[in-house]
Amino acid sequence: MMVAVTHIEVVQGDITQISVDAIVNAANSGLLGGGGVDGAIHRAGGPEILAECRRLRETALPDGLPTGDAVATTAGRLPARWVIHTVGPVYSAGEDRSHLLRSAYTRSLEVADTLGARAVAFPLISSGVYGWPAADAVHQAVTAVRDSGTSVETVTFVAFGADMAGLLQDELR
Ligand code: ADP
Repeated sequence: MMVAVTHIEVVQGDITQISVDAIVNAANSGLLGGGGVDGAIHRAGGPEILAECRRLRETALPDGLPTGDAVATTAGRLPARWVIHTVGPVYSAGEDRSHLLRSAYTRSLEVADTLGARAVAFPLISSGVYGWPAADAVHQAVTAVRDSGTSVETVTFVAFGADMAGLLQDELR
């Protein structure tokens, strides 16, 4: 029996510039844009992405995308073919929401499998405005991908800064 192995890579930079089949957006439930990586993706990808998000809100997702779930749209003028929007949890010191953070990764990979995407790039979901501590955000991300059983061949984690890239390299060692 063939066992699929997903290669995991780390690059430092801007996820909007990465040439892969699909990039993942750390969106919010409203799907209509926001700050951080979400804003960067909509700015770089152009209005087609927002138009498709609006159509999703008018049809399949009137209440928005639930935390831990994922949905794909066009990538507009980005080098990628698709944007997979997912919603990570807001970090809470009093409640363990790590299952939702892991679900954001695994649901994104399930959507990628449905699309037939072979190379997918992720930002570090929830590690910005949503406040997840960086070291644990990296640990949850890498273990969720490793345990996912996805058919995606290459997952690239895109660290925006050198500190995050270093944490990812440590986690992969
Ligand atoms: P969240 O609301 O899920 O925390 P953010 O967009 O605020 O999402 O941050 C998620 C991570 O994405 C943070 O580590 C942030 O530094 C990083 N980030 C922001 N812009 C980009 C970008 N253009 N490319 C890659 N990563 C980015």
